[in-house]
Amino acid sequence: MKVTEIMKKRMAFSFEVFPPKTDAGMEKLVKKDGVLDKLYSLQPDYISCTYGAGGSNVGKNLEVLKSIKDAGKCTPITHFTCIGNTREGIKEQLQTYLDNGIDHVLALRGDLPFGWTGTGGDLHYATELVKFIRTEFGDKFCIAVAGSPEGHIACRSLEADISFLKQKQDEGADFIMTQLCWDMDQFRRWMDAIRKAGITLPVDVGIMPVLSIDSTVNMALSRNGCVMPRELCEIISKYWIFPNPFAPNEAEDSIAQKKADFMKAGLEYTVRLIDEYRVCGISGIHLYALNKYENVAKLVEMSGIKDM
Ligand code: FAD
Repeated sequence: MKVTEIMKKRMAFSFEVFPPKTDAGMEKLVKKDGVLDKLYSLQPDYISCTYGAGGSNVGKNLEVLKSIKDAGKCTPITHFTCIGNTREGIKEQLQTYLDNGIDHVLALRGDLPFGWTGTGGDLHYATELVKFIRTEFGDKFCIAVAGSPEGHIACRSLEADISFLKQKQDEGADFIMTQLCWDMDQFRRWMDAIRKAGITLPVDVGIMPVLSIDSTVNMALSRNGCVMPRELCEIISKYWIFPNPFAPNEAEDSIAQKKADFMKAGLEYTVRLIDEYRVCGISGIHLYALNKYENVAKLVEMSGIKDM
């Protein structure tokens, strides 16, 4: 069933994983009783798998998606980017997904590798990729596109960014998956603005569980320039560990305790965030599971999203 059909009836619930770089990481993810098997037990509607810039991990991306497809527990969605891809290459790769029963795609421009000024491929923006997929494959794919509630980091303006999102809808996109956004006031403003702009697509909200200080800061600042609200900054501040001018020789066990306390506070913060999102007129919650299970399961249970 198309994910958008589920969204017509109720809020969807999904996970995002990435193709591990090593064989050991892959084994841990796809083996019997591995991370994917455990994630299925939480009954997601779909699991999406990221696609490395330049197609560096195409083989592993397909292996993960085939494993999800073969398990038959939920819909696999592949991410796909324009980076370094020719039209012919895109056609070939998308046909391979279809041949393997993968008919949902998140159509992205892709993150530009460091030092690049363009995609280095035949298509330059996600709008062109959506149009290309519809032209070449008709309705064979259900197409998701990215939306950035704070505006894409390189956008000319929020208005320009929203106008390109509208163009993705006009080219045939089926639903929106959002970039991470902790600033709920901004999210609500963006929801109002896209609806006023005539964008009617379902919005599936991307949420990164707040579990460790380094991954939280990294996700926010390494590429996306996300606003961190005062409440989140206070949690980070309270459990700050590195480098700490106020405790330069902090003991290992004190650091371990702070990490555990941060995780607990972060999970509670993420649950409150999910509560706020759920009353914003959204159509799905998409958790960046980061190939982990235990904390994701805890979050699913605490937030009640499995029963949406
Ligand atoms: P676009 O929509 O093409 O926008 C890119 C920029 O160009 C924006 O600033 C926009 O305002 C501007 N723009 C758009 N169209 C035009 C136009 N016609 N003319 C002029 N300017 C225009 N990246 C990966 O490499 N692999 C992944 O697996 C991956 N997964 C992701 C999953 C999610 C849920 C999200 C939200 C993002 C993901 N990304 C991934 C990151 C994404 O590729 C980057 O955010 C990328 O920088 C932009 O992609 P986009 O599809 O939003 O680009």
